[in-house]
Formats: sequence, C-alpha cells, structure tokens
Amino acid sequence: MNIVIFGAPGSGKGTQSEGIVTKYGINHISTGDVLRGEIKGGTELGKLAKSYIDEGQLIPDELMIKILASVLDSFKESKGVIFDGFPRTIPQAEALKKMLKERDQDITVMLDLEVPEEELMKRLILRGKESGRADDNEETIKKRLLVYHTQTAPLVDFYKTEGTYQYIKGIGTIDSIFDSICRAIDSKK
Ligand code: AMP
Repeated sequence: MNIVIFGAPGSGKGTQSEGIVTKYGINHISTGDVLRGEIKGGTELGKLAKSYIDEGQLIPDELMIKILASVLDSFKESKGVIFDGFPRTIPQAEALKKMLKERDQDITVMLDLEVPEEELMKRLILRGKESGRADDNEETIKKRLLVYHTQTAPLVDFYKTEGTYQYIKGIGTIDSIFDSICRAIDSKK
C-alpha cells in the first residue's frame, strides 16, 4: 500500500501521517524531515537545502528525486510507504510513478487535505512560535503558499487522471479528520 498525503503547508500532513503509520504499519517518508535532518547534521546537502527552504522555495526536482530514491531503497520488507511532502511538482509525481513501477508497485491512494487559506496561515504562525521552525514566519509562509498554488496544486489533476485522488476535509478535530482518512484508504485497499 503506497499513500501520498497531499495538501498545502499547514494542512496537517505530518500529524495525520503519524496516525496512518501506526494503524497501517507502513513506512513514512517526509522529505521536509529528511532535509531538516541534513541541515541539523551540517552536511553539504543540508547547506544547499537550507538556502532554498529559508526562501520558501522548492529544492530542485533532480536532487529531490535522488534523495527520495535513496530513502525508498533503504526500506527492506516494507508493507508500504506514506509519502509526505513528496511529490510537490509534476516531474516529481512522474518520477515517483516510474520508481514504483520498477518495483511492480503503484500509488494506492492520494489524500488531498483541503484547508482554507486563513486557517493555514493561523496554524503555521502558531507552529512557528511553538517549534521555532525557521520557515514558519509570515513572510516565508506567504512564499510557500504561492509556490504551493503554482507548482504543487496541479498535482490534483494529475492524481484525478490516475484515478487515485481522494478529497479530505482538513478542518475539524484531528480524530475526525483521521476517521475520514481511514475510510478513504480502506475504500481503495
Ligand atoms: P515540509 O516540511 O514538507 O513543509 O517542507 C519544508 C521545505 O522543504 C519546503 O518548503 C521545501 O523548501 C523543502 N521540500 C520538502 N519537500 C520537498 C519536495 N518534495 N520538493 C522540493 N522541496 C521540498
């Protein structure tokens, strides 16, 4: 079972991924977490990633696809994967499809967490205050939302064409959103 959890920054992808990993016993790849780990470790990749993240811009596709492939290869005996924060562009979605096909697999379901813009803004500013994430400040959030609308949102149509798209109302309690997610996953299993 391979799941793409999709949505704008602040839509709850990370929070909901935790519940999905526990319930379905699959691996989790958060490309944002991978990059933040590299930054923390002070690696060359981390330094490069930081220059994009701080500007609210996406890391170039070619590099991101290589990183994703190496994480995917590190999973042995996997029951499936939840992709969180990847793909974010059409070339990334095409590369993911190809990578999975080479492993005789495909995406089972794409969960689109839809949250109104004012709510996203509120959640991200609060997260910035609580976690100190450097890109959760008003100026960078605005840039990230613009990048989301221009480069990432077109993936909705990509996955509608693939037949795996599922709309999820991303407001309400964490538990009620999780219930809708589980229903969507179970209907595609
Ligand atoms: P996230 O934690 O998923 O919100 O990601 C934080 C930042 O990491 C993004 O604003 C991008 O700069 C970078 N990033 C994460 N995933 C990707 C991706 N799939 N493609 C390009 N950049 C990414």
